[in-house]
Amino acid sequence: MTAARVCVLGPSGRMGRAVLDASAGRADVKVTAAVDREGVSVVGREVAPGVIASADLAAGLGSADVYIDFTSPDGTRAAALIAAQRRMPAVIGTTGLSAEHERAVAELAQVAPVVVAANFSLGVNLVLGLVRQAAKVLGPDWDAEVVETHHRAKRDAPSGTALAIARAIAAGHGVDYDAVKRHTRDGDVGARPRGEIGVSSVRGGDVIGEHVAYFFGPAERIEIAHRATSRTIFAAGALKAAAWVVGKPPGRYDMLHVLGFAGE
Ligand code: NAD
Repeated sequence: MTAARVCVLGPSGRMGRAVLDASAGRADVKVTAAVDREGVSVVGREVAPGVIASADLAAGLGSADVYIDFTSPDGTRAAALIAAQRRMPAVIGTTGLSAEHERAVAELAQVAPVVVAANFSLGVNLVLGLVRQAAKVLGPDWDAEVVETHHRAKRDAPSGTALAIARAIAAGHGVDYDAVKRHTRDGDVGARPRGEIGVSSVRGGDVIGEHVAYFFGPAERIEIAHRATSRTIFAAGALKAAAWVVGKPPGRYDMLHVLGFAGE
């Protein structure tokens, strides 16, 4: 097996570090470049054997077959624009993308294979299938709510994973998520409409990521929960996606494709 050469974006970040750590000893991927923002202290330091972090995005991408992006929406856009010129495969985990950021990702996916996932863990991707199935069986008479908890430094809310879970519930109900979503409640919001899908965010401490999908029925309740206790699960999933995506036809893929669940 030839190892896919990987450029890690954001090597000073929580996820960037986790990806570097998880890459050690793998045969399917080899980190050959790491790129962060100008002025970040990691720039100029060795972050993996023989890999000095730089702030030169074009050079970093140029010395790899695929890049892994856990940065910020602007970081995602900047990398996608350069990658599109090179038709370079990508693995994108950054969340909180606006329509403009999404456009840059979509343009890249027209010319290169791109795996985009709000969550790279096997468990969460299984949960997406479970909540969809539950919503389909239970229907909108069972009130569906998603509660997510993350560390105090997380910037975007609701989490990308919570949105993916809520969208999977909407798909199970056969409705358009944007027509039924409720992201915050404050003041006199009235009785809960049938079919509404609520998402609530809790922030504090060092929680890596917890998601609970509730289905409230008459006199009974189902909870489908996922709790991450290490970023390794996301990092290992992203590295697996990087090895998988090289050589695929252009297009947008998700973790279900990487895990072999797509279409099931
Ligand atoms: P972090 O703030 O710890 O790290 C972000 C890193 O990106 C830093 O090194 C920062 O300097 C760098 N960066 C930011 N903007 C940049 C730019 N324009 N160019 C180059 N580098 C840039 O954040 P984190 O906790 O590692 O999370 C990063 C992103 O990944 C967030 O959007 C988070 O929600 C997401 N995330 C996704 C998953 C998943 O499985 N998909 C899991 C965890 C986190």
